[in-house]
Amino acid sequence: MRAWLLAAALSFVSIAPALAADPLRQGAEAVRDKALADTTAYDYVASLTTEVGERLAGTEAAARARDWGVAKLKSLGFSNVHVEPFTITAWVRGPEKAEVTAPFPQSLAIIGLGGSVPTPPGGVEAEAVIFPTYADLLAAPLGSLTGKIAVVTQPMPRAQDGAGYGALNPNRRAGPSEAARRGAIAYLVRSLATGESRAPHTGALNYKPDVPQIPAAALSVVDAELLDRMAALGRPIRIRLSLESHTVANAPAWSVVGEIPGTEHPDQLVVVGGHMDSWDPGQGAIDDGAGMAIAVAAAHLAGAHPAKRTLRVMLFGAEEMDFTRFAVFAAHQAEIPRTVVMGEADIGSDRAWSVALPAGSLTHPAMQAYAAAVAPIGVIMSPEPARGGGDDIVNMVQAGVPAVAVRQDASRYFDWHHSSEDTLDKIDKAQFSQAVATWATLLYVVANSDIDFRALAPASAAAPASAPR
Ligand code: ZN
Ligand code: ZN
Repeated sequence: MRAWLLAAALSFVSIAPALAADPLRQGAEAVRDKALADTTAYDYVASLTTEVGERLAGTEAAARARDWGVAKLKSLGFSNVHVEPFTITAWVRGPEKAEVTAPFPQSLAIIGLGGSVPTPPGGVEAEAVIFPTYADLLAAPLGSLTGKIAVVTQPMPRAQDGAGYGALNPNRRAGPSEAARRGAIAYLVRSLATGESRAPHTGALNYKPDVPQIPAAALSVVDAELLDRMAALGRPIRIRLSLESHTVANAPAWSVVGEIPGTEHPDQLVVVGGHMDSWDPGQGAIDDGAGMAIAVAAAHLAGAHPAKRTLRVMLFGAEEMDFTRFAVFAAHQAEIPRTVVMGEADIGSDRAWSVALPAGSLTHPAMQAYAAAVAPIGVIMSPEPARGGGDDIVNMVQAGVPAVAVRQDASRYFDWHHSSEDTLDKIDKAQFSQAVATWATLLYVVANSDIDFRALAPASAAAPASAPR
């Protein structure tokens, strides 16, 4: 029975007859099938994680990644491969340590949040106040945390669409300033993560301008649960925290760009990207080596027989600390009128299940051909239009560029994202190829049709918004 199911699954796509004579759909199905059997994306991430590894923006590793990216795009046959420089305030991690000093002394697995100020030399030690939810922290009166370390231990739910991450994003991004507003001298947050692991997950914070900046770190899931158990025993908990870090003003950063020129409308741009930078503890395999690889492989496959419109791939250089979106807008705003669509892959390597298209385009014949081509691989069209499309492109989208968003299964993504466990072995090759096929087919259809998303957009199209990083 199992062998039969496997054989059926493997043969389903290739034996399905092309039911319509629509050449766009037939071409789309051919690209889809080629992508399902193609290893360009996996080979890309394997090469990146082996030859570069982590690549925090503004560091030497990021410069190595830039050179690697240029060489990779050239080797895949992209034209006009070039580097777009910009500058950032880089944040670089130093030694970090945390421990419970009373009532039950033991170490804690933590990682500093990106952008955190360091602790004073020697660290801080203070009584900890454990909040089971972020709402409990916000309910604490002003001044109630004076001299204390605030700890939020709210768990993040697992969800196919990653909604838990969006919902809990303020715990990490705004929590440090909300704790400081109430008098806290440091802040710890349970990692925005699913699964049970002792690997803490980092990510950026955003200090608010009206309160002091306090040091902040993420606890591993199991260490947050440890503090919950200690708190349940009712005795005062004391924590010692030491975080070192430094910033580098005007650090160099880069996006890497390559193109497959269109044969009929080279001025019309179909743009897809992923981000080159990663957090430092892992290899940046799923965030966002996988997304970059999907973009590169999808454009490579879609443009194998050159498309009518130009396919452009962008490897964004500084997503995690929210810099690239401004650099992309500054460099490309003049192209907004001739940018057909933009998309960004930044939700890991697992299978695609839904595609959100620009508002009003679902019923266009080209998008109907696309929907028909990817339906057999388990992808539906979202009834809701795409919103921001990705952090690095959101400024372009807010300025009028139509966006697409391919939603991949995020059920496993937050087990490893932003942690030391973001490594190559987490990529499931079959799911990864399906995600590439979903993107490649989309790029093929858009680049070989005359669809004009702006002309289809209803006047009341939803305002784009940025996705949580
Ligand atoms: Zn990312
Ligand atoms: Zn990230």
